[in-house]
Formats: sequence, structure tokens, C-alpha cells
Amino acid sequence: MTASPKLPPFDPTDPLGIDELLDAEDLAVRDTVRKWAERRVLPHVAEWYEKGELPGIRELARELGEIGALGMSLSGYGCAGAGAVRYGLACLELEAADSGIRSLVSVQGSLAMYAIHRFGSEEQKQTWLPRMASGEVIGCFGLTEPDHGSDPASMRTYARRDGGDWVLSGRKMWITNGSVASVAVVWAQTEEGIRGFVVPTDRPGFAAPEIRHKWSLRASVTSELIMDEVRLPADAVLPGAIGLKGPLSCLSHARYGIVWGAMGAARTCFEAAVDYARTREQFGKPIGGFQLTQAKLADMAVELHKGILLAHHLGRRMDAGRLRPEQVSFGKLNNVREAIEICRTARTILGANGISLEYPVMRHATNLESVLTYEGTVEMHQLVLGKALTGLDAFR
Ligand SMILES: Cc1cc2nc3c(=O)[nH]c(=O)nc-3n(C[C@H](O)[C@H](O)[C@H](O)COP(=O)(O)OP(=O)(O)OC[C@H]3O[C@@H](n4cnc5c(N)ncnc54)[C@H](O)[C@@H]3O)c2cc1C
Repeated sequence: MTASPKLPPFDPTDPLGIDELLDAEDLAVRDTVRKWAERRVLPHVAEWYEKGELPGIRELARELGEIGALGMSLSGYGCAGAGAVRYGLACLELEAADSGIRSLVSVQGSLAMYAIHRFGSEEQKQTWLPRMASGEVIGCFGLTEPDHGSDPASMRTYARRDGGDWVLSGRKMWITNGSVASVAVVWAQTEEGIRGFVVPTDRPGFAAPEIRHKWSLRASVTSELIMDEVRLPADAVLPGAIGLKGPLSCLSHARYGIVWGAMGAARTCFEAAVDYARTREQFGKPIGGFQLTQAKLADMAVELHKGILLAHHLGRRMDAGRLRPEQVSFGKLNNVREAIEICRTARTILGANGISLEYPVMRHATNLESVLTYEGTVEMHQLVLGKALTGLDAFR
């Protein structure tokens, strides 16, 4: 009889041994971002959330630039060129602190920088990307409008040619980083179809008032963009994008980061629930000793680590250039939906304390309400998958 091989010990923080998929550089990136978030975000984020502000956002952006987190998966122009898996690991660690911080990074890197990197002229790339990668310049991405969210093809923002210039008018809504951005990538109808414009936000006719009274993503700047006959030079248009495919490919990149990020929020809530269940006593023993609590924790762990495994799988496909948008929809749909469920279940385990900002759970759960909606709602991703599965388009 051969001796059975010695099994590695069970690690409650990594029950499936997913860390074995990571190399030393992956671990170093994860560690750097985790430490930064623990030092710069965690001690303050409950207060920022309560006040509904993100003070020192410019300083935070510069520090995120220093650790290579801005435009992390992009190459050249001062970007880290770290690839998809490392970018995903960074998103997870940032969102483990707060979805607002991950949103700042996603919008900067995956939406504004990605659009310029992929569709911009060499001059646009040289002008904007190095300063965006360093965090000196903050960018935003304006697609959604007050009356056109899930259906951006119907957008009303319009750019017309006037001699050699473009003149841009319209309104965008719910734009992350809008009021603090020095540059906005704005999508507009033109005679040639939907096109993207690189708009310096100090142009006459451009305003970005902040949206207040949000009860989700409170430690994040969200704004309206108002463009009243904003005159732009001919070279403000992104030459490589005509039609909705341009903004949709940016969204696909950002959604990929959310697949990872959502699991960060879920991990924090899961850990808070385990800690609480171990120490909170009712009926003479820790609540973690009751079967009903253990069932919740087991189910949460299963979904958390399945979600992380899925994120890894998609990351490897992206690094290999084989990730399809439908697969990103699969990941975003599953991971955000499961993450919010994990946070809500954690909330029940913490009882009344679960609603307090003294614990991270309610903050993450309410943040995830936005994450569930932006970058394509649950229903949009169901429709993407439904179409891919049946060949039938049910969008209209
Ligand atoms: C905090 C925050 C930050 C954001 N940041 C940005 C940003 O930086 N840039 C940007 O451009 N946008 C941003 N958004 C906007 C976001 O992308 C939109 O909110 C999202 O696309 C949904 O659009 P909507 O809110 O207009 O909802 P709607 O499109 O009006 O949808 C309302 C509901 O109807 C459902 N629905 C719509 N059509 C169908 C259909 N055919 N079948 C079934 N159900 C349907 C939707 O799924 C949803 O449940 C942000 C949003 C939030 C909350």
C-alpha cells in the first residue's frame, strides 16, 4: 500500500488554494495595493462615507499613480503594463476597502485612459496618458444621460462640425470623478455616428456640478456634465472609434475589474461576519456555534471563493487575448449579485451592529447597490447572455 500524500493544511482564508495560481510578482502587487488601502483608506473611509465626501482625492490619485494602479493593465505612456490578473488583484484589494476607491481607479484606468489608449491619436496619448497614469490628471467618462442609461445608443448629446472645430452640447448624468476631472471622455452623436471626444474640462461652456444626496458610493465623486456649445479643435475627437462599439469596449474592460472588485467587498463582509460570529455570544455560546450561522458562513465562503476563481479564469483569458464580452457579462452578473448577497447575509449575522458604520458591512452592501447598476445592470447582462444562448435579441 502506498502512503497517502501529505495534504496541505486547510486555509480558511483561501479554502480552494487559489493563491497557488499566483506567482511572486502577482503576490507583490496584491500586497502593495492591500497595504496602501489599509494605510490610506481604511482608517478614514467610514468618516468619508458618513460625510458623503472623498477629501484629498487628488493626493489619493497621485499615490495610486505611484503604486502603478492607474491604467495598470495598459502598456507604455507611463502605465504599469501589469496585465489583467494583476490589475484584477488590485481591484479586489481596493474594493475590499471601499467600492468608491475602486471606482476612482476603474474610471480613470479602464474607462478614460483605456478609451484614449485604444482609440486615441498618438498626440492624444502623449498629451494625456502619462499624466493620468501618475495621477496628476484625473479623468472621467461620460456616456450615461439623464434619459438614456441602459440604452446609450439613444443618447442626445450632439457634436456638430463648425469649420475646423467641433461644437459639443448635451448633458451626462451619474459621472464618476466628474467634478474633479481635468479631462472628460465624452460620447456624443455626430453625423458619422457616436464618437468620443477628449474634452479639457476648463473649456468655456463645460460644467460638472456634483450630485449630492446619494446613499451609495458616498466616498466617491459623482457628477453631472453640462455641455453648452463647448468648442473643441478638430483633433479632440478619438480617431479610432465610430459607433457604440467604442464606448462598449471600454465598459467591457471596466466590467472586468468589477468582477474582481465585487469579491473584495464580499471578502471584507465575510471576514467581519466570521469574526463577529466567533465572539458574539447569545444563548450562552458564540453565535458561530449555531448551525444556522454556520450554514450562512459556509454558503458565503462557497460563493466568495467561486467568484474569485471565476475572476482568475476571466483574467487569464484576458491576458491570453481570449476574453469575450459575453464572458465579462457572465462574471459581472454573477460576482456582483453574489457579493451583494454575501454582504446582506453578513449584515444579518452582525444583527443590529450590522447597520452601524462602526462595521464595514452596511457600507459595502449599500455601495454594491450602485455596482449592481453601473457598467450594465443585472438585467442588461442577463439580456447579453440570453441573446448569446438563444441567438434571439430581447433588448427591445
Ligand atoms: C454611483 C454611480 C456612478 C456611475 N458612474 C458612471 C460613469 O462614470 N459614467 C457613465 O457614463 N455612467 C455612470 N453611471 C451610470 C450607470 O452606468 C447607469 O446608471 C446604468 O447604465 C443604468 O442606467 P439608468 O440608471 O439610466 O437605468 P435605466 O436604464 O433607466 O434602467 C432602469 C431599470 O430598467 C431596467 N431595464 C432597462 N431596459 C430594460 C430592458 N430592455 N429589459 C429589461 N429591463 C430593462 C434596468 O435593468 C434597470 O433595472 C453611474 C451610476 C452610478 C449609480
